[in-house]
Amino acid sequence: MSRPKRLHLYIDGKAQKAISGKSFANFNPATGAKLSEVDQAGRRDVEKTVQAARRGFQEWSAVTGIERGRILKKAADILRERRMDLAEIEVKDTGKPIAEAPEADIDSGADAFEFFGGLAADIKGTHHDLGEDAFAYTRREPLGICAGIGAWNYPLQIACWKTAPALAAGNSMIFKPSEQTPTNAGKLAEILTEAGLPKGVFNVLHGSGETGHYIAIHPDIDKVSFTGSVPTGRKVLADAAGSVKHVTMELGGKSPLIVFDDSQINNAVSAAMNANFYTQGEICSNGTRVYVHEDIHDAFVSILKSRTEAMVIGDPMDPATHVGSLINADHFEKVMEYVRLGIEEGAHLVSGGEKVSVTGCEKGSFISPAIFTSCQDDMRICREEIYGPVMSIMSFRDEDEVIARANDTEFGLAAGVFTQDLSRAHRVVAKLRAGTCWINNYNLTPVGVPFGGYKQSGIGRENAAVALDHFTQLKSVYVELGDVECGY
Ligand code: NDP
Repeated sequence: MSRPKRLHLYIDGKAQKAISGKSFANFNPATGAKLSEVDQAGRRDVEKTVQAARRGFQEWSAVTGIERGRILKKAADILRERRMDLAEIEVKDTGKPIAEAPEADIDSGADAFEFFGGLAADIKGTHHDLGEDAFAYTRREPLGICAGIGAWNYPLQIACWKTAPALAAGNSMIFKPSEQTPTNAGKLAEILTEAGLPKGVFNVLHGSGETGHYIAIHPDIDKVSFTGSVPTGRKVLADAAGSVKHVTMELGGKSPLIVFDDSQINNAVSAAMNANFYTQGEICSNGTRVYVHEDIHDAFVSILKSRTEAMVIGDPMDPATHVGSLINADHFEKVMEYVRLGIEEGAHLVSGGEKVSVTGCEKGSFISPAIFTSCQDDMRICREEIYGPVMSIMSFRDEDEVIARANDTEFGLAAGVFTQDLSRAHRVVAKLRAGTCWINNYNLTPVGVPFGGYKQSGIGRENAAVALDHFTQLKSVYVELGDVECGY
C-alpha cells in the first residue's frame, strides 16, 4: 500500500479536493519527514459533506440490520488483511512503536466492526402491555448524521470505535481526524467503500479545530462524538448546544492506580509501566497517580526503576523499540516542562525525564520514561494531565485515606486497584468515582466492555452494546385496540 502524497477529503464515496483550496502538511514525528500535503475542509466543504451524508443516511437507514452487519464485518476482514500496512501508516503518523500498533490500533479497530456488525441485526425496542385494549412498543431509530472528531494518539482505533456503532445503528458518519494524524481515516473510508458501504455513509473531513468547529455548529448534524482534551470538549459541547445535538465526550484523565501491600508486586509494576509508558504515555486512561502502600513502596520503586531503565527507546519502526517519539516538538516541550516543574515542586526524579537522541531519528521528540517519588497530591504533576511518560508515585497507609485521595480530582476516566484481597478489591472499586476500573491489571479495553468517563472525563460510553444507545433514539408508540374514550 503506497502512501499518497496528497490526501484529499473523502465525500460521497470518493476522494475529493477541498473546495476551500487550503491544505496543510503532515509530518512523521520521529523523523521530521513530510508524509503528505492534506486538503483542509472549509465551511463549504462541510456543507457539501452534510448534504452527501443526508443522502447516505436515507439509503443506509433503509438497509436491513443483517445486511448492514455483513458490510461492517467485511470491513473488519479487510482491516485485518491490511493489518501491517495500516499499522505502519499509524506508526509514521503518530511516532508510536510498531511493536504496539498492529494489535492495539488495527485489531482493536477491526474488533469494533466485527462486534457491532454482529449486533446490527439485533437492534430492537420493547413491548409494554397496557391491558386488553392497548399496548405500546418502542423503536430504536438512528439519529441521522453523526460526526466523529478524534484525537491523535489512536487515530484509526478512535475512528473505528465511533464509526462501527454509528453505522450498525443505521446512521451516516462524518469523521474529522486530528490534523496531526490524518492518513488512516482516509484508508478506512476506502475500506468501507470496498466492503460495500453506499456512498455518503462514511465521509472524512480533514482539518484543524476550525473544521471541527464548523462540524460541531452545523444544524443538520444530529450528533457529535468527540475524543480529545477537556478544554476542547467544553468548546465542542458549547457549539453542539446551539442545535441541541446528542453528544458523546471521551475526554482526558489523571487516573489513580492503587497498589496495596498484599499485591503481587511484579504484576503491579507491570501494570504501572503499562499504565504510564505504553504509547509514550499518550493515553487518556493512564494511571499516572500511582499510590503505593508505604510497606512495599521501596521494593516497588526499586523493581520499577530497573525494569523501566531496561526499556528500549528507539526508532518506532524497529520492532525492538518500546518507547517511540512524542507527537511533536511542542508537546515534547510541554512534557519536559512538567518534568522541570516536578523537580521544582520538590518531587524526587528517580529515573528518566531526559531528551534522548535516536540514531536515524534525530528530529524526533524522544524522552526517557520519568518516575517521580515523594509526590504530594497538590503538586501540579499530580493534578494535571501531562500526556507523556511521566509517573508520579505517592505512598499511603490506609484504605479510606487512599480512596479519598484517589477521588480528589475533577477527572474520572479510569482507576486501578492491586490487592490479593477480593473483598477489599470490590469494596474499593465501588467507592472510586471513575468510569472504568481494573482490578489487578490496567488499561485493557476489550470491545465488549463499556468505556467512558465520570465527572469531567466524559459523557456517554463507547464499546459494548450500550454504545448503540448513544447512536439511536427511542420512539414510543401507543396502540389502541378499543374505542376512543371522549367526554364530549
Ligand atoms: P484536542 O482536544 O486538542 O483535539 C481533539 C480533536 O478536536 C482534534 O481532532 C482537534 O483537531 C479537534 N479540535 C480542536 N479544537 C476544536 C474545536 N474548537 N472544535 C472542534 N474540534 C476541535 O486533543 P488531542 O488531539 O491533543 O488529544 C489529547 C487529549 O485527548 C487528551 O486530553 C486525552 O486525554 C484525550 N483523549 C481521550 C480519550 C478518551 O477516550 N477518553 C482517548 C484519547 C485521547 P486538531 O488536532 O486538528 O487541532
